[in-house]
Amino acid sequence: MSLPALAENTSGNVIEIESLSKRYGTGENMVHALEDVSLAIRYGEVVALRGPSGSGKSTLLNILGCLDRPSAGAYRLGGYDVSQLDREAQAWVRLHFLGFVFQSFNLLHQLTATENVALPLYYLGVPKKDREPQALELLAKVGMTARADHRPTEMSGGQRQRVAIARALATRPRVLLADEPTGALDTRTGEEILKLLAEVRERDKITVILVTHDPHVAGFADRQVHLQDGRITHIEDNPKPGASDAG
Ligand code: ADP
Ligand code: MG
Repeated sequence: MSLPALAENTSGNVIEIESLSKRYGTGENMVHALEDVSLAIRYGEVVALRGPSGSGKSTLLNILGCLDRPSAGAYRLGGYDVSQLDREAQAWVRLHFLGFVFQSFNLLHQLTATENVALPLYYLGVPKKDREPQALELLAKVGMTARADHRPTEMSGGQRQRVAIARALATRPRVLLADEPTGALDTRTGEEILKLLAEVRERDKITVILVTHDPHVAGFADRQVHLQDGRITHIEDNPKPGASDAG
């Protein structure tokens, strides 16, 4: 399988979903986690998914991340229909095009920072001798060179999230998906992580989709998509940074 357009394109829509729905369970226990959701996301855009608990944010992020499949509707990633891929094909798409950052970091505790970041490189088939230098380069980009040999248990939450971002970037994803990336961090550390994501987006021209219920975090995005009861209620354009009243 290949998605060449994803590797080459930098203009237009990287993601298009149409009339997407997701249902869990059957009969009277059925939950409509998503109903008739349509959305297009451009290459290089930062989009925040917002809404109260249970509104379908994680469900949508998991479908966009090819971790789950919609019950109905279309999902095109880089122009390719990825809505009904089997597990193996989903894993291939995730490895080659998507990066993930979680609220709880999800680092492997028995591995050092370098080893954590090198792991996806192993899955990609990067030769052993190249993995450590590449991992160190990624750790440098997130300001974690001094902690390269440390294990997650020896790091603060902010440091763990930096390592998790380096790991997510290791495979050079086109889309970075983050579920409450600052949710477990204090305000100041969360702010640093947002700054780092902004740098990454600028430098790597990456698309970032993040789930948050924090309006301040959402303010960092280009657009905010508001969800309620599994539906998009409205989409808000954020003011561009640097745009001033005077100008
Ligand atoms: P959010 O991330 O906005 O809090 P979720 O996407 O996690 O919301 O959940 C949306 C709805 O789908 C909720 O009602 C939730 O209980 C339900 N839901 C999510 N995952 C499952 C699942 N695996 N099985 C059954 N119901 C689920
Ligand atoms: Mg959630």
